[in-house]
Amino acid sequence: MKLLDELRVRPGDGPGLDRRDPGARLGADSKSDGLERLAKLVERLGVLHNRLYAEARRSVLLVLQGMDASGKDGVIRTVFTGVNPQGCRVEAFKAPTPDELAHDFLWRVHARCPARGEIGIFNRSHYEDVVAVRVRKLADEHVWSKRPTHIVAFERLLHDEGTSVVKVFLHESRDEQRKRLQDRVDDPEKRWKFRLGDLDDREKWDDFQRAYEDVIRETSTEHAPWYVVPADHNWSRNLCVAEILVDALDRLDPAVPAAEPGTADLTVP
Ligand code: AMP
Ligand code: MG
Repeated sequence: MKLLDELRVRPGDGPGLDRRDPGARLGADSKSDGLERLAKLVERLGVLHNRLYAEARRSVLLVLQGMDASGKDGVIRTVFTGVNPQGCRVEAFKAPTPDELAHDFLWRVHARCPARGEIGIFNRSHYEDVVAVRVRKLADEHVWSKRPTHIVAFERLLHDEGTSVVKVFLHESRDEQRKRLQDRVDDPEKRWKFRLGDLDDREKWDDFQRAYEDVIRETSTEHAPWYVVPADHNWSRNLCVAEILVDALDRLDPAVPAAEPGTADLTVP
């Protein structure tokens, strides 16, 4: 599919973030067409997930990364409305606890990966252990610079054991982030999401973009590709992520298990 080719970062390539327009409206010609298409995909996702869950052999892991207010929460809220919460697991990764820091960086991640039959959604992920750690100087370069290699091997393990890994970077513009953070401050219902530390990260915008550029280049593989999704327009962002997910599930082509023998023409007494 042309859209997915455009979004996908080919193995060995960089994402070219500065050449991609965060304001692009991809996936449909207009917002109303986009919302119509999204509704169809949401329904299709529900059907495919039901088969995946019934089959209980394989799983899908969606990794969501992006700057503050890039829409990670919005994607989860919108794209998964048709998915049965039973068999769907959302995991949000915050700054590691002392116990987590006392282990290797993948320890807490592996424990939260989806079980067979599940769709797992990572709201932030092991990529924080490269990007945030690098930009905020939480560990030395000799620590974080080795991590992408371990991540590639880890994601290959997941893939070989039956988990399809798809990774999405929500590509937001700096200007749109300013508007959205201001909106968070101004709206009492959203203010809880805002932290003063968000402004520190915003100040380091270019460093974060550089760190994402590098880690996406190092970790976009055949078995766990990265997709860069323009994130300034919510409808297009949601639509692109839905297309990516439906494509991943379509390729798995899950099937409900065969019925028990003798049940085909059964009349329930
Ligand atoms: P939020 O997702 O906006 O609620 O914020 C969670 C915060 O936790 C973000 O600032 C992340 O950068 C931070 N975080 C998540 N994982 C890690 C990690 N492994 N190391 C450092 N910071 C992290
Ligand atoms: Mg935040």
